[in-house]
Amino acid sequence: MSTHSAPLPSTCCYCGVGCGVLITPEKNGDVTVAGNPDYPVNRGALCSKGLNLQYTVNDRSDRLLYPQMRYSKSRPLQRVSWDDALARTAAVFKTFIERYGPDSVAFYASGQCLTEEYYVLNKLMKGFIGSNNLDTNSRLCMSSAVVGYKMALGEDSVPVCYDDIELADCFLITGANPAWCHPILWRRVEAHKAANPATKVIVVDPRATDSTALADLHLQLIPGTDVVLHQALARALIEAGDIDLAFIEQHAEGFEAYRAIVMARPLAESAAQCGVPEADIRLAASYLGSARAFLSMWTMGLNQSAVGVDKNLSLLNLHLITGQIGRPGAGPLSLTGQPNAMGGREVGGLSNLLPAHRDLANPAHRAEVQQFWGSGPLAATPGYTATEMFEALEDGRLKAIWILCTNPLTSLPNVRQAEAALAKAKFVVVQEISNQPETLAYADVILPAAAWAEKEGTMTNSERRISHLAKVVDAPGEALPDAEIICRFARAMGFAGFDFANTEAIYQEHTRLTAGTRLDISGLNYAVLRARCSVQWPYRAGQAAPETARLFTDQQFATPSGRARIQPVAVAFRSEAPDADFPFILTTGRIRDQWHTMSKTGKVSKLRQHIPRAFLEIHPDDAASLGVREDDLVVVSSRRGEVRVAARLSAAIRPGVVLLPMHWGRSLGSDLNRANNVTSGTIDPISKEPDFKFCAVQVLKY
Ligand code: SF4
Repeated sequence: MSTHSAPLPSTCCYCGVGCGVLITPEKNGDVTVAGNPDYPVNRGALCSKGLNLQYTVNDRSDRLLYPQMRYSKSRPLQRVSWDDALARTAAVFKTFIERYGPDSVAFYASGQCLTEEYYVLNKLMKGFIGSNNLDTNSRLCMSSAVVGYKMALGEDSVPVCYDDIELADCFLITGANPAWCHPILWRRVEAHKAANPATKVIVVDPRATDSTALADLHLQLIPGTDVVLHQALARALIEAGDIDLAFIEQHAEGFEAYRAIVMARPLAESAAQCGVPEADIRLAASYLGSARAFLSMWTMGLNQSAVGVDKNLSLLNLHLITGQIGRPGAGPLSLTGQPNAMGGREVGGLSNLLPAHRDLANPAHRAEVQQFWGSGPLAATPGYTATEMFEALEDGRLKAIWILCTNPLTSLPNVRQAEAALAKAKFVVVQEISNQPETLAYADVILPAAAWAEKEGTMTNSERRISHLAKVVDAPGEALPDAEIICRFARAMGFAGFDFANTEAIYQEHTRLTAGTRLDISGLNYAVLRARCSVQWPYRAGQAAPETARLFTDQQFATPSGRARIQPVAVAFRSEAPDADFPFILTTGRIRDQWHTMSKTGKVSKLRQHIPRAFLEIHPDDAASLGVREDDLVVVSSRRGEVRVAARLSAAIRPGVVLLPMHWGRSLGSDLNRANNVTSGTIDPISKEPDFKFCAVQVLKY
């Protein structure tokens, strides 16, 4: 047990809001967790998930305690030593790499990984194994926003800070339900509006939610029509003269081509396509156009789409034509779903990224990283993305996969395909804290990992705020921190450069690699983070006022011309369209008290009470036409599989649209409440983010 007794600062391990907490070790080995009153994000407040963090740490009944391995697919798993597990894994990886090349192996990680874990994984895979086959579940979450930022602003950067909430007088919330999914941030919006009733809140969502309850205007659009709506708003802004021509002339490019596209479609036509009254579009545009400062917030409703990049770009365009960026209270604020999706992007932890936002396609950038690491040449070709990895496993291009800190057999779309892929994989390593995930059934090697509060490291939240997470208690059994597992494996592979004295040494190497880039954090170290609690990047060494609340305040963007790019996005439809056999549009979503695949929140009885089981939300008119009543068991089927859950009738959802929560996987011996049995494997062609928010299903009474 740890010798600490005073509370130690950390950050909540759930959503990207990144609330500060204080963790106190108790004499019996348990911990208590409270909101950190000094932390700038939440000032001591926590949502229901954060308030129950301690139970997830203290309940260790599901923890993996020692490495396990099987010597062939036909033999059972048996307990082994760390040395044996890593030596055999290294031998298998080496064999595949020698026979089939470095692209025959892959790592699939998580936006919950700490930055140091991302760093050593990236270094190992891209620098030393020589493949870019490292992707994470952030691909399922934020990759469309990443591409949108890069295409429009020149870099993957959130330009605003949370303090802009109190400075904005108009909010455009689209494809998000922050009242449930980012509650502490939403409370700041609520408090701001309560104190300033003239503040306008526009919420765009096919469903009425707790977030729409605060809205002055709810635009209940037909799923998938976001680009049309954004362009209609732009047209109304242009017609009303509510655009910033001086900003456009001096700081943006591409306006004329964009203008031609948005003016080509009459507002009445857009309104009909979106299922939103034309008057409401004009009213929303008038709120945006008259705002002193407007802030947009979005999550999966835009990102998880076959046109996710287009949706992001069309939203960013609204900021660019109104000049609402780079000044207090104004700009785009993408809300990350995971606690360290941002940190992962900074480290380059996706299969198409390099550290510190360097460009994989740029030979000079690759050479720079290679030289810094002292590694072999970095591959120029992007590696497999999340869904591509499982396709490559299924058809044999990929021989081995190492899954850590994520549960793809609940979270991937069209999950039956992922199951088939893991069944065919030649070698599967699962690095996990819990004995529950479905992936364990396919594992050749199981590696027990330390959980939150059992290891130290750093994370970056949605406003570029980096914080240090303390280690408070020891991990149970033989579980090890993820970074240590990766470094031990790298050494077993025979690679130099993984002899870090401690986690801080990894962090120091990471910060040095950012020097001179736009996200330069070379002035940061653990001592600074402990002293300041947290800082927003960039944070350059020797800089007089190192912390950076907002980006682009000089209106100089990260493009070659220094101008932001207004992208003339054309309207496209790439989703699976409803038809006579599958007439409903299925969308997926999250509920207030659960987080992702419930490995942690599902253990807490208080959190299960809010909504204890999976359900299908369906409009009462649709239910009546099917003879379905409240709580009736229904079968939701698509071309890929089926789900059987109870119906919840709600006028909050549009007729013709149904919703399944994304959290439930296999439970009580059945996987028929798993939404991803039916979701589509369609992905955005650029970001490769899946289309979780749109597929065609049939609903029948069971
Ligand atoms: Fe944790 Fe997010 Fe809740 Fe804050 S809002 S306590 S970060 S889950």
